[in-house]
Amino acid sequence: MYNAKAYSAVSATSPLASDTIARRDPTEHDVQIEILFCGICHSDLHSVRDEWSDFMSTTYPIVPGHEIVGRVTQVGSAVTQFKSGDLVGVGCMVDSDGHCPNCKAGFEQFCQNAIFTYNSPDKHKTAPVTYGGYSNSIVVDQRFVLRVPPNLDLAGVAPLLCAGITTYSPLRHWGVTEGKKVGVVGLGGLGHMGVKLAHAMGAHVVVFTTSPDKKEDALRLGADEVVVSHNADEMQKHAGSFDFILDTVAAKHDINAYLNLLRLDGNITLVGAPEKPLDVAAFSLIMGRRSLSGSMIGGIAETQEMLDFCGEHNITADVEVIPIQKVNEAYERLLKSDVKYRFVIDLASLKSE
Ligand SMILES: [Zn+2]
Ligand SMILES: [Zn+2]
Repeated sequence: MYNAKAYSAVSATSPLASDTIARRDPTEHDVQIEILFCGICHSDLHSVRDEWSDFMSTTYPIVPGHEIVGRVTQVGSAVTQFKSGDLVGVGCMVDSDGHCPNCKAGFEQFCQNAIFTYNSPDKHKTAPVTYGGYSNSIVVDQRFVLRVPPNLDLAGVAPLLCAGITTYSPLRHWGVTEGKKVGVVGLGGLGHMGVKLAHAMGAHVVVFTTSPDKKEDALRLGADEVVVSHNADEMQKHAGSFDFILDTVAAKHDINAYLNLLRLDGNITLVGAPEKPLDVAAFSLIMGRRSLSGSMIGGIAETQEMLDFCGEHNITADVEVIPIQKVNEAYERLLKSDVKYRFVIDLASLKSE
């Protein structure tokens, strides 16, 4: 074991603060990574404050962070895919059983034994739970390490590892290609990636937002049209016309208003997680054989495909880079949606701790 620098929280009401954590020495299948950048995902904040305790309660101390970009510093003897100096990424998962039907199909994210990047039981027993990317170093099994295209800005790549794959996977799954009409509900960290990716796939992209002042930015990011969602006339103009709608909103909203915009066999996929159940009118689904579904990140092969796609199309997230000393302030701003569109921590700032 060796010591790494990190920022951790010791309780649901404590701020994140400087800490020293243990990391395992790389085993034969492991890759040791110097972390350069780590994005701040809303899940980090929920986990730090133990707001998802019904789903998975938080073990303290917690070191969050699952949008990791870094450079390989050492590899185990059986590692064939990576070498020291390579630019790599790590997303929301660091391990899975590898043999269940979901793993075999490339859907490690749905493995019953998936080990998430932080707050999952640590099978190596280095610590009670896994520690994430708010740190200067991490050790990860090579199967869960991704290659980063060399042409992309590294800070902007970090959010691709969660926000990027979370939006890419359902767009692909529901057949978004050239000429399809795609809606993106909400223009935050997830939504802005959804717009960029759907645009690059050749779709006609319509952004739905509650704030008219986001219109210009939506167009800049690649939207073809912007609809202010509380304007019933504007909504009505699009009735029955969408092939697919990506719903990124985590607050309570009227899902039926969007279901009614789908054409025959159209689908809405939820990637935001509102706290309370959404009311779904059966008629919204019955009329036009519409469907409502959910999606969670993506498998490892698909995450690599997404990174390669972003490399080809020169896509990164729009980010505000911060030193780690500003992380608690960034959380407060995140709660007010005061970021365009993702905070990314520059881990070089950890050197002074
Ligand atoms: Zn995330
Ligand atoms: Zn599995």
